Amino acid sequence: MRITFCGTGAGGAISRERANSSIHLEDGGVRLLLDCGPGFLERMVEAGLDPDGLLGVVYSHLHFDHAMGIVELFCRLLARRGPPLTVYGPRDTDAYIEAARGFAEVNLARPQMLEWLAGVGVQLTRPGDEREIGPFTVRSVEVPHAPQLECLARRFELGGRSLVYSGDTTYAPEALVPLAEGADLLIHEAYTQGAIERMAEQAGMSAKAREAMGGAIAATHSQAEEAGRIAQAAGARRLVLTHLLRTEREEKLLAAAGAVFDGEVLVARDGLALEV
Ligand SMILES: [Zn+2]
Repeated sequence: MRITFCGTGAGGAISRERANSSIHLEDGGVRLLLDCGPGFLERMVEAGLDPDGLLGVVYSHLHFDHAMGIVELFCRLLARRGPPLTVYGPRDTDAYIEAARGFAEVNLARPQMLEWLAGVGVQLTRPGDEREIGPFTVRSVEVPHAPQLECLARRFELGGRSLVYSGDTTYAPEALVPLAEGADLLIHEAYTQGAIERMAEQAGMSAKAREAMGGAIAATHSQAEEAGRIAQAAGARRLVLTHLLRTEREEKLLAAAGAVFDGEVLVARDGLALEV
């Protein structure tokens, strides 16, 4: 398996350096996108990855920074004659894709385009789901992130190799440690307290506003050290930290996770490619 990060920034943190969440997964010519956040398409092209011919998109959850790039992808693929795309996702992915189809439809110029768009498949992969997607065996478990959304972490296996992607989650060892057991690579979202403080400082926030922002992030996301604890408890071989705030510093992320995890830790950046 080969993965390429096509977006590593947290929601609202799009910058020249980081598009929103998207990971390209490839093996033997079969290609999937794990999440499809805004800005992913440019990063795919920059990485030399052809957006045509994707087998599917696998959503962790439907927050805009993981999901909204789908309209861009539909519009790009309308004119192609390739196989139909399938979108796999949690509860309500069917309604989301129906809406995305509507946005894409205004670009239809030929009957074949409508045919392609109508052929986009949707498969709901609810908590506990296990299935084959192309050559990959994919297991899904629910993780706690946003109360109104079903959020899923996934394990992809192929030929004895395994990759786990946390999606967005608070610290959830009960869900993620069993899922990531012995994984060759764990991709886990992460933030540091220092990044929140720098962000508040730059924005000139009051102490109250700073506390509210910190509380909101703590209630929905994981600290780098917590990601390290998951990797350590699961016995993962490598850990990649992603979904990063604009104000993160690589050395702080590495130090926080590395203090509790014995394996290799990497900080994701757009364009980073790894063999699993
Ligand atoms: Zn989210």
